[in-house]
Amino acid sequence: MLIDCHTHLWSQKDHLSAEFLADANRMRSDPVDLDVTPEKHQAAMQGVDRCLVFGLRARHSGVDVPNDFIADYARDYPEKVIGFMGIDPTEGGVEQEIERGLALGLRGIKIGPIYQNYHPMDERAQPMWRLAERHGLPFMIHQGTTFPRVAPLKYANPILLEDVALCYPEVRMVIAHLGHPWEVETLVLIRKQPHLYADVSALWYRPWQLYNSLRLAYEYGVTHKLFFGTDFPVATVEDSIAGLRALPELAERANLPEIPRETIEQILHRDCLTPLGLD
Ligand SMILES: [Zn+2]
Repeated sequence: MLIDCHTHLWSQKDHLSAEFLADANRMRSDPVDLDVTPEKHQAAMQGVDRCLVFGLRARHSGVDVPNDFIADYARDYPEKVIGFMGIDPTEGGVEQEIERGLALGLRGIKIGPIYQNYHPMDERAQPMWRLAERHGLPFMIHQGTTFPRVAPLKYANPILLEDVALCYPEVRMVIAHLGHPWEVETLVLIRKQPHLYADVSALWYRPWQLYNSLRLAYEYGVTHKLFFGTDFPVATVEDSIAGLRALPELAERANLPEIPRETIEQILHRDCLTPLGLD
């Protein structure tokens, strides 16, 4: 079983602002094509058994993907695709939008406080946490750095999720990209909080940092809480698998403490659906 827990669907033209795209390209030497049509997504996911798919609603950072767009796609591929709704607590009508997302068949919530410009424990976010806990909706949370210039780092540290986990202990959360560059904070947090997890998406192209993060996860004994993901279109399934499998070899060649191959295979083939209540 191979599950990609982190993939995007959006139209570059309709859902991403010119400023967002300019900031994205400023950070890279090779401009990335962020446009993801349903056809392109299906082709990219050929090698996986299941995938989670979402957009993002964050007008503060120039991203606004309608939940209907995600729901329409997920409905076309019920065997493979699980759709998450984007919720932005800084916009009104959060409770209505969650109920509407549920009615559309969406099964979790994608947020990114750094993109959306609020502290995870902000007053405006409380109805979202409460309702998600009541409905058993898991979260994919971008709690880490990102490229848009207007996205505030002060709201991005994974440690800010500790109070959320204590106030809403039944809420399942996946911290995207190991909370980079605060991977250490993410690891100590998911070690303490039973329903917090992290994905390893879009990190393989910084192999030194990823090696250190996974070695530390291994030393802390928390690799069982790490899920495989790509962050497609940022990375592909094939490159992400190869990047993870290259780490034990990197350690061997450099005579560094090991990351067992078996640990990498376990992350690759982990069932993230059961712990998130999605099976
Ligand atoms: Zn992402």
